[in-house]
Amino acid sequence: MTVDERLTHARWTEALRDGRLLGQRCSECDTVTATPEAACPACGARGLETIDLPTSGIVHTATTIEVSPTEFDAGYRVAVIDLETDGGARVTARLEGEASIGDRVELTDVLEVRETVPVFS
Ligand SMILES: [Zn+2]
Repeated sequence: MTVDERLTHARWTEALRDGRLLGQRCSECDTVTATPEAACPACGARGLETIDLPTSGIVHTATTIEVSPTEFDAGYRVAVIDLETDGGARVTARLEGEASIGDRVELTDVLEVRETVPVFS
């Protein structure tokens, strides 16, 4: 599905709260990003189409944060998720449950902290 307007951080956040992940596909090289960008990180083109991304993916890497900012309890996990789409889109997210590298996870929640963060489990 294609979304018309240019993707801003506010629109990305609003969609995330509705359980949708928006991204951008480069019109020149088909690279897909999972967060708003002003230009394609691969080729620098500015022709970026806003698209709906799948809300499932594979854990690419995960780490446990033992020394955390003051508003969080230490010991939470953060992961980079390879979304199940062409174009290489990845999203950094909070990881809950027992999933580890190589496991398939789904967007199940958001966390409202300093900003809205996707939660996969
Ligand atoms: Zn590009």
